Amino acid sequence: MKIAILSRNEHLYSTRRLVEAALQRGHDVMVVDPLKCYMNITSSKPSIHYKHQSLENFNATIPRIGASITFYGTAVLRQFEMMGVYSINESVAITRSRDKLRASQILARKGIGLPITGFAHSTKDTDELIKLVGGAPLVIKILEGTQGKGVVLAETKNAAESVIEAFRSLNANILIQEYIKEAGGADIRCFVIGDKVVASMKRQGREGEFRSNLHRGGTAVKVKITPEERATAVKAAKIMGLKVAGVDLLRSNNGPVVMEVNSSPGLEGIEQSTQKDVAGMIIEFLEKNAKPGKTKTKGQG
Ligand code: ADP
Ligand code: MG
Repeated sequence: MKIAILSRNEHLYSTRRLVEAALQRGHDVMVVDPLKCYMNITSSKPSIHYKHQSLENFNATIPRIGASITFYGTAVLRQFEMMGVYSINESVAITRSRDKLRASQILARKGIGLPITGFAHSTKDTDELIKLVGGAPLVIKILEGTQGKGVVLAETKNAAESVIEAFRSLNANILIQEYIKEAGGADIRCFVIGDKVVASMKRQGREGEFRSNLHRGGTAVKVKITPEERATAVKAAKIMGLKVAGVDLLRSNNGPVVMEVNSSPGLEGIEQSTQKDVAGMIIEFLEKNAKPGKTKTKGQG
């Protein structure tokens, strides 16, 4: 197979591992920086140009599109889809999962357990909104944040009001969420490929930190998940339309609740804590599923 990995940086652990796994399995692989692509949008013969060459005859793409380049990155991916190239995660699914509010609405509609979540535009509604999610302590999130940036725990109603007003004055879109205290600063990352959780880890925030993100100094250990957690993770990825996903769950008193579904889940933490060849499993999935023209969206949406 000829595989394009859409990534800004070939030195990143995840990108390197995917290249390595593809080469090991005898594939042709190229790392393509989406920001350096330019495209010709025509219905007769769409094309993508990169470093003085036309990207042709690819069988599959693995998008690793960072949150900061979602807009242009998904446009490049859509172009691959228009050309009939199979993408392990399609552009529409990536866009969907990037917007926390949109993702929550889609998951809730399909009956996935979520923390109680509120959203409003006008500052006048702050009071009601806080009540809606059960009062303080509560969690406030910027809609398009990642790596724990833009996620704040407000311990009191006063703190919550101040933070909500501050974010609003910056015109940031935010959501407000019930704080799942019993999770104890930990979450469960389920790495889903196709219809299986292939690896799972528990991430624990460092002392005094409620956010478990590894980027915030959290640590990861392999964890055994329950059948309910497994089923929830697989279902959440499927609803979002992602073939590869990092589904983050919190262990709440009411069972697993989904916090987010990541479309470009990192490989470093999960491979190191579980000692599994997740990159190899991604390539294996492509070998079984990448068929020309097998894209649901053909660049729509
Ligand atoms: P990001 O996309 O920035 O990673 P998340 O929504 O995943 O944002 O939140 C970051 C971390 O904060 C989570 O991994 C979790 O540990 C903690 N967290 C987020 N929301 C809640 C919540 N409602 N209750 C308890 N902890 C939470
Ligand atoms: Mg997260």
